[in-house]
Amino acid sequence: MIYFFKKQFLLLILFFAVSTLMAQVDRSDKIVFGESDTLSIVDDNDVELGEDECDEDYQEVGKEESMIYIYFDWMPGYGTYNNFDILTTHYKHETSLAADTLILGNYVHPAPYKVYSKYGRRRRGMHYGIDLSYPTGTPVVAAFDGIVRISKSRAGGYGDLIVIRHDNKLETYYAHLSRRLVNPGQLVSAGDTIGLGGSTGRSTGPHLHFEVRYMGVPFNPERIIDCNEFKLKVDTLYTSGKEIKITSPVMNPQANDTPPSKLYITVKKGQTLGHIARRYRTTVYKLKKLNRLKSDFIREGQRLRVR
Ligand SMILES: [Zn+2]
Repeated sequence: MIYFFKKQFLLLILFFAVSTLMAQVDRSDKIVFGESDTLSIVDDNDVELGEDECDEDYQEVGKEESMIYIYFDWMPGYGTYNNFDILTTHYKHETSLAADTLILGNYVHPAPYKVYSKYGRRRRGMHYGIDLSYPTGTPVVAAFDGIVRISKSRAGGYGDLIVIRHDNKLETYYAHLSRRLVNPGQLVSAGDTIGLGGSTGRSTGPHLHFEVRYMGVPFNPERIIDCNEFKLKVDTLYTSGKEIKITSPVMNPQANDTPPSKLYITVKKGQTLGHIARRYRTTVYKLKKLNRLKSDFIREGQRLRVR
């Protein structure tokens, strides 16, 4: 009898311990943006960040020297950003957000310099990114595959700024650059050099200011990126609800050596199997096999599994 109670008691303790642990993990891995949050651009200066207006079937990206029109459905996250205007709807989204899954895909970390200033409250306002000590002239690389949306000099406090919208629907910002090496509308792969580090804009010394945003809402990059190991902490983000809510589950540490998870893409206008194979570092043969394709023909809008 005593033995029985002891066992029950131990089980109870174990249950509480596990549930407390799980609750903590759960809480710490949620990035919730309330509608009451306010956004100012980093370092207070207003900056014209280009427009996200849906105008017929093309979209203007980049407002400055290199004006370019691209077909709207080429833009990563086309469905997500359809009614999203970065100039006016930073936080307050009129429409409720459908639940979505963002598969982060390939990630390449900037040069392995330390984070010396973290995301979060500062004496004056908020710091919407992380600062890496980054010597002037050091190559800055695209974090994920995507398309350059903004490449602009003197972008307020940001100085020379590049913004890339990624196939995973996130956007990354690279600020204070000494040189920009890409133009709006240019397709980039994770790891491609897009510019050189510097100290332009409101900056007291060479550093890279790096932001990650979803629908214009910045969140702490260190929630998804391990800046000591230079790799992603998570491979998937989930959004749900009226406020933007991103849940980033912790990857199973044992799962690190397993092959990459399934990845699906939507075929863009003009893309062939060859393009897609090159981009995702696979072969046409593997793509056809994965998708049970009988011919090389694919159509725009078609969903394809790439791994
Ligand atoms: Zn910064």
